[in-house]
Amino acid sequence: MFMVRLCRNRWKPDTCTCDLEFEFDADLDGASRTHRIVNVYNACPAHTNLSSYISQTLEGTVVPFHQENQRKNYSLDEMATRLGLANDENRWTNLQQYLSRWYFDTASPRVLHIVTKGLTSTQKSQIQTAVNTRFGAGKIVVE
Ligand SMILES: [Zn+2]
Repeated sequence: MFMVRLCRNRWKPDTCTCDLEFEFDADLDGASRTHRIVNVYNACPAHTNLSSYISQTLEGTVVPFHQENQRKNYSLDEMATRLGLANDENRWTNLQQYLSRWYFDTASPRVLHIVTKGLTSTQKSQIQTAVNTRFGAGKIVVE
């Protein structure tokens, strides 16, 4: 049986000021779902061509701000793992004591900077190696 239950959600990522609406089939489970861009309400200065991605999926490798958001989420999670933080509801709160801030710079493509606090150079280097393995060198700087 083939079912389609299209739902729409609005998304403003925390990695830039883009603002858009996407559509997905709520009858599919999370792993097989794709999210197709249907409206762009704001394109931030780093992603001025966002409207050209309308009708493409966020999962497509071409939508840069989605990749940036995932890179940020994955990298902070990897940092928590490398620091041995428990994978529980306090994980994000516990990470804050080692995280000064994160930001994307103005390079093109944008580079994610993770500014740590209180970490040894060995710890920083372990996190850097882990995120380089996942995303390639030069995409993330652990400071
Ligand atoms: Zn953006």
